[in-house]
Amino acid sequence: MTGAVAGRPIVIGSGIAGLLTALCIAPAPVLLITQEGLGGQSSSALAQGGLAAAMGDDDTPALHRADTLSAGAGLCDPVAAGLVADAAPAGIAMLSRFGVVFDRGTGDALTLGLEAAHSRRRIVHAAGDGTGHEIVRALTEAVRATPSIMVLEHTSAEQLLLRDGAICGVLASGRAGRFVLPGRSAVVATGGVGGLFEDTTNPVECWGRGLALAARAGAVLADMEFIQFHPTALASENRPMRLVREAVRGEGAVLIDETGHRFTEALPGAELAPRDRVSRAVARHLAEGHSVFLDVRERPGPAFPEMFPAIAGFCRAAGIDPVRDPIPVRPAAHYHMGGIAVDEQGRSSVQGLWACGEAACTGLHGANRLASNSLIEAAVMARAVAESIGAQPAQPLVSPEGIEPQRRADPAAIRPIVSRGLGLIRDRDTLSHAISLLSGLAAGDDAALVGLMMAVAAHDREESRGAHCRRDFPQTNKHATRTMMTRSEVFLRARELGSEMGALARSA
Ligand SMILES: Cc1cc2nc3c(=O)[nH]c(=O)nc-3n(C[C@H](O)[C@H](O)[C@H](O)COP(=O)(O)OP(=O)(O)OC[C@H]3O[C@@H](n4cnc5c(N)ncnc54)[C@H](O)[C@@H]3O)c2cc1C
Repeated sequence: MTGAVAGRPIVIGSGIAGLLTALCIAPAPVLLITQEGLGGQSSSALAQGGLAAAMGDDDTPALHRADTLSAGAGLCDPVAAGLVADAAPAGIAMLSRFGVVFDRGTGDALTLGLEAAHSRRRIVHAAGDGTGHEIVRALTEAVRATPSIMVLEHTSAEQLLLRDGAICGVLASGRAGRFVLPGRSAVVATGGVGGLFEDTTNPVECWGRGLALAARAGAVLADMEFIQFHPTALASENRPMRLVREAVRGEGAVLIDETGHRFTEALPGAELAPRDRVSRAVARHLAEGHSVFLDVRERPGPAFPEMFPAIAGFCRAAGIDPVRDPIPVRPAAHYHMGGIAVDEQGRSSVQGLWACGEAACTGLHGANRLASNSLIEAAVMARAVAESIGAQPAQPLVSPEGIEPQRRADPAAIRPIVSRGLGLIRDRDTLSHAISLLSGLAAGDDAALVGLMMAVAAHDREESRGAHCRRDFPQTNKHATRTMMTRSEVFLRARELGSEMGALARSA
């Protein structure tokens, strides 16, 4: 590796979090590595709705913070929520400076959308429902135009290298094989864990590799059990599953089954009840053997293709004419509230390791994410991470203590286990079964390790809260706190649970 590369901060991932962190570190030298080409598979590029920021005359960061805390079902970190809400307008301004063209109305004012559980219009968007695509386009162009950002495409991070408990480089693999990138700071920006579920709106390549890397380096992970499911993904074999946005239900579309029965009518708020409740109602109805459809034929009616051209387009590509036929839907894993525990500067518990975006857990989302809070969190935290890295004193490069042999990572084998054990409605039996299967694999397989961390956290949260619903513990425990865990604690707990299960089986 040339001297020009060695020693730069290493940013892993090229969604909004990775691209923007690299841009904020510049003009200082920085290295960005990403497993795809720039602009390739990421959840960022798929985002439709937008970014939440208190920009309207009737809005304040305090109201945005209050809505965030209310969605998070008592487990948000109020400091993180205040920090992100306060900095959100500046985050939008920064994205504009980097070339993102947001939708604007008269007098150049930003057009602000309204989404469920927001008390004000505060959703900033671009290209209608093409916000993510526009963000990735603009930031990718900006990265390519910044000489101090060196980009290694088609390069995966495989191990975070340590010396005396601190980061000293990243082991990467690319078309030329495995190689060491020396550096004293690394940023994990590898996105969420949706790719570990059979039904997901995330790219299947985004299954949480960065969380496994951080866990193996000794980092603390937080709130791993909280997965947000989206109730209305188009039921088809395509992955990622396409999202039929809440806005369609906002325009009057209803959920029906094969008999035409509107089975969510009794829920408070019906189809517009909170996302987790609608998802669970759909999952229950499917589990009872029904089919579920979103019916747009009456409302929005014939105007649907004009109002939602992208959704109408992918429905037609799947052979469904939404004006004439109900759209088959089912819930899909959509967003991970948990991740690598970080402080308000994006620092993990490992010296020299930062995390940003969906891979990180600032505590902003608590047990349930407020819609459109993730892109803005990534934008706000990218700047915080860059400032924190910039404030570090220079440190000499050192060689790593150990390089592990190439590890397995077989998300395809783990998907059925995670999908069954960690679905929308969980219980001790299904979680214990998942833990017993995953603990045999997790020492050697990164995908199994991520699944095991989620399953142990979900097993030990004996309550229902936000996105975490336990059939056997339907109540919320008012004394429950956030989950914090390291890899060794997870293995220890899985062993304890294994012995308990063995004892139970012997006594049965
Ligand atoms: C369909 C959909 C719609 C959404 N709509 C919205 C919305 O309207 N508003 C909102 O706020 N949020 C939305 N979200 C959530 C939001 O898009 C994500 O939380 C956010 O984009 C995550 O950004 P990220 O940069 O952390 O991760 P990603 O954008 O997923 O990027 C991760 C990057 O890491 C790379 N990577 C992964 N592992 C490795 C490795 N080992 N080595 C190197 N590179 C690696 C990937 O290739 C990718 O480039 C939506 C999500 C989806 C799926």
